[in-house]
Amino acid sequence: MTKKKLIAGNWKMNGNLASNEALLKALLQGGGSFECDVAVCTPAPYFAQVQALAAGTSLALGAQDVSAHASGAYTGEQSAAMLKDFGVRYAIVGHSERRQFHGETDDLVASKAAAALAAGITPIVCVGETLAQRDAGETEAVVKRQLAAVIHVNGHCISEIVVAYEPVWAIGTGKTATPQQAQSVHAVLRAQLHHAASAHAAGIRILYGGSMNAANAAELLAENDIDGGLIGGASLKAPDFLQIIAAAR
Ligand code: PEP
Repeated sequence: MTKKKLIAGNWKMNGNLASNEALLKALLQGGGSFECDVAVCTPAPYFAQVQALAAGTSLALGAQDVSAHASGAYTGEQSAAMLKDFGVRYAIVGHSERRQFHGETDDLVASKAAAALAAGITPIVCVGETLAQRDAGETEAVVKRQLAAVIHVNGHCISEIVVAYEPVWAIGTGKTATPQQAQSVHAVLRAQLHHAASAHAAGIRILYGGSMNAANAAELLAENDIDGGLIGGASLKAPDFLQIIAAAR
């Protein structure tokens, strides 16, 4: 099945008004029409800035998290409806940094995906094993458990999600999974999606994330079940991010 690849940048907690403007202008220099789908997941304070600078282009805005709750006494959180107000199209949920530093559980991640879907925002659901889990031969069990929670809560709506396989040991470390390592986990996830949403599984995009860069993107993206990338560090450098986008036709 042919589907457009998705390249999503995760800026994490980086940037300021001036550097964001320079980065976005460089990304949009060619007019902002890309052959694949492209998004930048920015810190929430900059949504309005990015929305304004990307207006009229095909660069989509993404969030790095979303509350599982609709409104109320949840200090510091942003609801899916608030994201929607700023034209947010994607929300990363369950990034390993949130699982690790904010204690996010599989169930919470599943609820966040549900909140995003209910607001018409596409959740980018991150799954991935730590190095210790990989060494213990637990990779498949870990990613299947993480994805199963999202399938359980979201049922047939999972045809609307994006999955990102992000081995924790590859994030921000410069150690990338080999294309074969990544493809074999993507195939496991695809089979799981097939079981849950048979007719739609082939259309669900499964991104790879973890030190993807301008030099290794093409060979990763050439694998059968790698439908795009979630890019951290390299998304902060316009020439690198543009090269990754170019590799994703
Ligand atoms: C990420 O934060 O999702 C990520 C993949 O980071 P990096 O590309 O820097 O490894």
